Amino acid sequence: MSGPLTGQPVLTIDLPAIVANWRDLAARGAPGAVAGVVKADGYGLGAVEVARALRAAGCRHFFVACLTEGLALRAALGPAPMIAVLEGFAPQEDGDAALVPVLNALADVAVHAAAGRAAGVARRAILHLDTGMARLGLDGPEQVRLADDHALLAGLDLLYVMTHLACADEPDHPLNADQAARFAAACAALPSMRRSFANSSGMFLGPGFASDLARPGCALYGINPMPGAPNPMRQVMRLAAPVLQVREIPAGASVGYGASWVAPRPSRIATVAVGYADGYLRSLSGRAVGECRGRPVPLVARVSMDLTTFDVTDRPDIAVGDRITVLGGAGCTPDQAAALAGTIGYELLTGLGARYHRDYI
Ligand code: PLP
Repeated sequence: MSGPLTGQPVLTIDLPAIVANWRDLAARGAPGAVAGVVKADGYGLGAVEVARALRAAGCRHFFVACLTEGLALRAALGPAPMIAVLEGFAPQEDGDAALVPVLNALADVAVHAAAGRAAGVARRAILHLDTGMARLGLDGPEQVRLADDHALLAGLDLLYVMTHLACADEPDHPLNADQAARFAAACAALPSMRRSFANSSGMFLGPGFASDLARPGCALYGINPMPGAPNPMRQVMRLAAPVLQVREIPAGASVGYGASWVAPRPSRIATVAVGYADGYLRSLSGRAVGECRGRPVPLVARVSMDLTTFDVTDRPDIAVGDRITVLGGAGCTPDQAAALAGTIGYELLTGLGARYHRDYI
């Protein structure tokens, strides 16, 4: 693989660490299977590369958000693993890709069941019951109609019935137990089938949240599934951007848009080639740290579209051509940076731009 071009940030993705996270989760999920949720291009880190690595480790179930993602993943992975599309799709819309639609409403059940009956071949699908998220999934009245008339499922080969937790990252939230109870009751009213329940955080909620197939996403990518507690997952990514220039400025000089930072002393400022167009959020302005050679480097002034400035006054070792780790280093994990920016690690990772040189190790 050729190296980064001048001015190109390097996004290093540690596939063995992602696999190790999956193995840890698989041990936690046992005896149920554990899928890999690789939607949004593998939470910004590369769905194809992540899924290939997980498949080599034994992962047989993948979830993507939409048909476009499903088709791309099928083309890369070949026929074997289950690739389920959370937003569903119309019958035959996947061509011969053999994707598995998630059925999110009774109308989806009807149309896929009819297609299966017409073809004389039961259609594989996953049935999604809404138990409290109120986004997608059969709602309460639809669940009752289905419970009253199992014949609506004729023509379907339902691989799993699933639901999705709204508050799994808040272990004490009463909705968790409510959803578990509603899911159990709704499943009991349907023909017996395998269940898919927990996301990453749900896998840490206890035995009542175990199922035949867990669906972790964020924890694979090193996001803490238990906010507020020590992160049990490995960090898997590092974004390092090159220092383009280092300049000396006098005390009282301002830096960047809005002149929002004024040097309190004669200072050395390193201008680094990363900005909000790369997903390095503008709301990190003046409050984040980077890391260089294991030590923190404070960000000063506003993050702009392509450039960010760091105060390297106390770091005579930092020079043009060095790289400052802006995400994934000490003090700047995606969770830490997200907290400073008032968001969540998911948003930071999935918002990473397209200008990086990606290095998979
Ligand atoms: N299952 C569903 C239906 C989802 O929408 C998601 C992600 O949002 C996941 C599983 C994975 O969740 P997490 O990344 O919190 O593990």
